[in-house]
Amino acid sequence: MSVHKLWCWEAIDHGPDWVFWAQVTPESIKALENFANRSTLQDYSYYIEKELCHHHQQTCQNHIFIDTSNFDDFRSEKNLLIFNVIRIHKDTIEIVCGYGGRGETYNRIETSLLLDIFNSSQITLHYWKVIVGGNFYEYKTLHEGRDLRSLTGYLI
Ligand SMILES: [Zn+2]
Repeated sequence: MSVHKLWCWEAIDHGPDWVFWAQVTPESIKALENFANRSTLQDYSYYIEKELCHHHQQTCQNHIFIDTSNFDDFRSEKNLLIFNVIRIHKDTIEIVCGYGGRGETYNRIETSLLLDIFNSSQITLHYWKVIVGGNFYEYKTLHEGRDLRSLTGYLI
């Protein structure tokens, strides 16, 4: 299987923000957390954020990869305009490219990460979508799918 496209290929003509959102099966949560823990991504800084989560009614861990040049501003909660952030929270993975993000190098790393995660034998992709919008624009789903096959099909 060869993958040619970046996850955001269809988002490029839209905006302002590009978002990839995916959910894995409940049985995959532990493996996904372990994956996040041991991943290092070139040009991204990693940290774990603990926050009171309304959805899960408990303190949850967010595994965050933020493009390194924005790391300090992101952690001090400054308003970022152009950024790439990857958030892994329980069974969800979210990638946001603020105003299209910092470029193809980053999108390439993100796409490889997604394929590494979903090709792991212990992680099962349940649902994924590519959406665009934000900053006063409505969010719009460009594409969605329910398994790895549909995702790899989207990327070929
Ligand atoms: Zn939570």
